[in-house]
Amino acid sequence: MKKKINTICVQSGWQPKKGEPRILPIYQSTTFKYETSEQMADLFDLKANGYFYTRLQNPTNDAVAAKITELEGGFAGMLTSSGQAASFYSIFNICEAGDHFVSASAIYGGTFNLFAVTMKKLGIECTFIDADASEEEIQKAFRPNTKALFGETIANPALGVLDIEKFARIAHKNGVPLIVDNTFPTPINCRPIEWGADIVIHSTTKYMDGHATAVGGCIVDSGNFDWEAHADKFPGLTQPDPSYHGLAYSKAFGKGAYITKATAQLMRDLGSIQAPENAFLLNLGLETLHLRVPRHCENAQKVAEYLQNNPKVAWVNYSGLKDSPYYELAQKQFDGGRSCGVVTFGLKGGREESIKFMDNLKLACIVTHVADARTCVLHPASHTHRQLSDQQLIEAGVQPDLIRFSVGIEDADDIIEDIEQALQ
Ligand code: PLP
Repeated sequence: MKKKINTICVQSGWQPKKGEPRILPIYQSTTFKYETSEQMADLFDLKANGYFYTRLQNPTNDAVAAKITELEGGFAGMLTSSGQAASFYSIFNICEAGDHFVSASAIYGGTFNLFAVTMKKLGIECTFIDADASEEEIQKAFRPNTKALFGETIANPALGVLDIEKFARIAHKNGVPLIVDNTFPTPINCRPIEWGADIVIHSTTKYMDGHATAVGGCIVDSGNFDWEAHADKFPGLTQPDPSYHGLAYSKAFGKGAYITKATAQLMRDLGSIQAPENAFLLNLGLETLHLRVPRHCENAQKVAEYLQNNPKVAWVNYSGLKDSPYYELAQKQFDGGRSCGVVTFGLKGGREESIKFMDNLKLACIVTHVADARTCVLHPASHTHRQLSDQQLIEAGVQPDLIRFSVGIEDADDIIEDIEQALQ
């Protein structure tokens, strides 16, 4: 039975057999028992499938990864301890010292730091491009040693909408995979693989968990990118791995090569596993994702329209507004034109007024977080993006007065009343 997305949210992943718990159990165990030494040896050689140590794989995590993989229409997936770990692994799984990749410049500040500073220390260089530039312009960033193209479906906090088809064309023309961070729309609104993305990542900390209870991430591979067709570019996947007795992932695992390598090699060596207890909480969140996300978007649309008509507001950015430069693309790429629950805006009076406004909100709290059930607010230039220079802020699409307003699933009238009193 091919399930619809609402049913996948509720029913996929954990499939209990006779007499097993109906609800996904938390496998609170670091290790798993075997009967012979040979059985265990086969697991270490990747000759047999099975659990042996939770740093690599755990049944609770795998059930949740399977659900997200199905939601995204992917082939294989894995959970990570955070969205940051997912971003790092997604690139580091195919890049090594001396390699290069291209990324949209308007991305989450933490990802920008990871790519611009930390990856550079590892000898991996990133060129940032304007995602709205022409294909010819973006093409100029590619080099012979370029191994991936990266972008966010909806940039945090700039809220630019990525033209995934355009990005996929550029990536594939250059023989590299397109990696898309789909945290903001979630697969309820957009499934990047349907538009040509090869690998999708998430900070599950956001809408997927949805209740701000557990930090987590995931990586989903479509299985569509042909590593063997570009074997010289991706030796880590296509050539023998000395740390697995000369096994070559693309030959041994076919469409499962990318996730098997990320699990068997990166998780083994770097160990950013999600705690099974967090995976359990994430699964509870996923069960209502299809109910919450449309409500977030409906409320955000009302808030954006209210702000647009308020004389104290200088500008509003939300792709659901008809005058947004991303309106048409959002209508095409997102189910029902729904993008996410995050709206950005600036006040007449600039940065000072923005800060005063935020301090006067009562229902909406100032928190670092974004994209959970409770309405919250942040001033990126003072908080999440404060490490960025003014030039980097502009490249990341963050004006100094930008207020990031993450609309929750409360009653929209109450959220608007709170904004109204704070503006006054
Ligand atoms: N990607 C996006 C779009 C994000 O907004 C964030 C965090 O805000 C991350 C990745 C990093 O995720 P985490 O905080 O779970 O490490």
